[in-house]
Amino acid sequence: MIKFHQVHKAYQTEGRMIPALQPCDLEIPGGQIYGLIGHSGAGKSTLLRLINRLEDPTGGRILVAGEEVTALKPEGLRTFRRQVGMIFQHFNLLSSKTVADNVAMPLKLAGELSRSAIKDKVAGLLKRVGLEEHAKKYPAQLSGGQKQRVGIARALSTDPKILLCDEATSALDPQTTAQVLTLLAEINRELGLTLVLITHEMDVIRRICDQVAVLDAGYIVEQGPVAKVFLHPQHPTTKRFVQEAEQIDEQELHQDFQAVEGRILRLTFHGQSTYEPLLGRVARKTGVDFTILAGRIDRIRDVPYGQLTVAFKGGEFQQAMDMLEASEVHLEVLR
Ligand code: ADP
Repeated sequence: MIKFHQVHKAYQTEGRMIPALQPCDLEIPGGQIYGLIGHSGAGKSTLLRLINRLEDPTGGRILVAGEEVTALKPEGLRTFRRQVGMIFQHFNLLSSKTVADNVAMPLKLAGELSRSAIKDKVAGLLKRVGLEEHAKKYPAQLSGGQKQRVGIARALSTDPKILLCDEATSALDPQTTAQVLTLLAEINRELGLTLVLITHEMDVIRRICDQVAVLDAGYIVEQGPVAKVFLHPQHPTTKRFVQEAEQIDEQELHQDFQAVEGRILRLTFHGQSTYEPLLGRVARKTGVDFTILAGRIDRIRDVPYGQLTVAFKGGEFQQAMDMLEASEVHLEVLR
């Protein structure tokens, strides 16, 4: 759906060029939720805003649904932008307009539907985001989560193929974040929309994204399916994001391990093997004793995963490792 060929961007300010995005290639398949993660200033917003050409690239080609958007003239760009909805961290609602009028805005601007058709469409959109009771309220009368729902309904009003989400949950509390993420996942599934979302939280990526790109100082330093990047991060920046999400302090853990005997491994389960009684089975068969030192079981999007740090002592160690590997458990020797 979205392709970047050697796209780069530098901003010109006071006669100086500030590099924001280094030449990068990117492919975002249709119907996926694609996450962009990075610290502040990494280039995430720049990359997102290049997709609907709110920013023009300094060089490179961008294709969306086969159309070269980098070559579009103003008229073509206006039509193209209707296929790309956008939601924002601070919602960007018009405070002087009601919820219904905010959602109707892009449709009125497009000028293609009659007043009654717009009214019907807005009612349907408000129902979809669970705000049908609030149509006549003003933004100031809504909670943060409700305001973002208005933003989502407005973004969907022109039936876009792509929804760009710029830190859409960063201003919300954890419970509201979870509700908005669930709504975005529903929209992706039911409407088949491609979502590209920016976040600085790995947990947001873990919960709803299919793929992720990690940005650092204008470079895409790592990209791929979320399960691969989250469970086996390679780049130091990715590792830090994962550790933050898992609330792991590696140094503290290693200190704790000093008092523990035996070999220490990190076992990663993903999918089917997560809920199987594997460790018990391996211990009985091979005579190894095990101690669980740290662990977490959760989900990556809809697939369960587990990560356990385990000390093994005695018995047939190699046979135990072979058994675990045969069950598709990923092993990483820590000591
Ligand atoms: P992020 O979204 O990851 O925080 P941005 O894409 O906003 O990163 O910014 C990347 C870099 O580009 C930063 O150094 C930022 O200061 C710079 N930048 C962003 N927008 C502009 C602009 N309009 N003019 C000049 N520099 C900008």
